[in-house]
Amino acid sequence: MSISAVRSLVSLALCGLVITGCAHVRPSSTDASKNVVLLIGDGMGVAHITAAKVEGGTLNMERLPVGGFVTTHAEGAFLTDSAASGTALATGHKTTNGTISLSPSGEFLKTVVEFAEESGMSTGLVTSCSITHATPAVFVAHVDDRNKDLEIAKQIASCDADVLFGGGWSYFVPDTEHGGARKDGANLLDEMRTRMSVAVSTEEFAELPDHGPAAAFLAPGHPSRASSRTPSLTELTEKALGILSDDEDGFFLMVEGSQIDWAGHENDEEWLIEETLDFDEAVGVVMDFAERDGETLVVVTADHECGGYLVIDASLDAHKVTRWKFGSENHTATMVPLLAYGPGSYELGGIRDNTSLGRILIGHARRVAPGPATLAR
Ligand SMILES: [Zn+2]
Repeated sequence: MSISAVRSLVSLALCGLVITGCAHVRPSSTDASKNVVLLIGDGMGVAHITAAKVEGGTLNMERLPVGGFVTTHAEGAFLTDSAASGTALATGHKTTNGTISLSPSGEFLKTVVEFAEESGMSTGLVTSCSITHATPAVFVAHVDDRNKDLEIAKQIASCDADVLFGGGWSYFVPDTEHGGARKDGANLLDEMRTRMSVAVSTEEFAELPDHGPAAAFLAPGHPSRASSRTPSLTELTEKALGILSDDEDGFFLMVEGSQIDWAGHENDEEWLIEETLDFDEAVGVVMDFAERDGETLVVVTADHECGGYLVIDASLDAHKVTRWKFGSENHTATMVPLLAYGPGSYELGGIRDNTSLGRILIGHARRVAPGPATLAR
């Protein structure tokens, strides 16, 4: 071995030590973050990640050193939907299935986004479904029924988030205009344009400024599946990070890989792996940012498992899952994975309820030690 080869090996080893050292130094429980990014793989269970790793190789999710599991039950039902489990993550409180950030008796539940805004942080939501769908909605809207897309759109249009990227422009446009769905005559996009840049096509998205608040609703309803989605979840996430990181007070960003869940409902294994890998790519750009930044807490989890998906066997040589099974065409009640990186991440190891995770996120947004979130605004 030449001296230069030895030198590179030594420097590689040192590099490894430094990186490992950074990643594994246990910060104190009061370790504060400047920024928080929560990535939700909707319907993503452990088997989904297993299959994505078999077929896609080393995952970005492997860059998060802290691991745990999250229990997901709803109020009054062991099997949750995305509205109830999303509300738990966003507010730290259980609610009934179908409910968007209200308690079972209709009380207002303040969300991590609203707490973050109160602390002067910038906030953003990025999703691969309509922005009015349950998971993004729970962070900025308060509605008794997840199917009330028009009401949710109204609340989203008047929320204080700085970045809103997803689909669903039809819910913001009056039905007197082509493709519009609103019956109240309101053009919410025009209202939003008074405070932020708004794009409703891929071309307009490309023209959005790199700074300042922005919304992009890139389909009338839900955007298409990962293989034909432009811009990709990763591109949306990169753009969001660029805008939000301008704020010296820090930011909270939620990124959702929505269609992992739909592939589970359809028992479509190929689609499921495609969406999980697409989500993992978005995790990658967030981790690139967090590793550079050093003050960003990154949390990857799911709201529930979907499909009762099992990886029974696979070929490592062929990078292919060879035997699999679906046990359900709906969500299942098994615990979901939790991965974390960055300041405060060690607090998140182990098994916890989704409300506990929500309260810890709110603690970061409030710039205080985790504690019970308040019910009233
Ligand atoms: Zn679902």
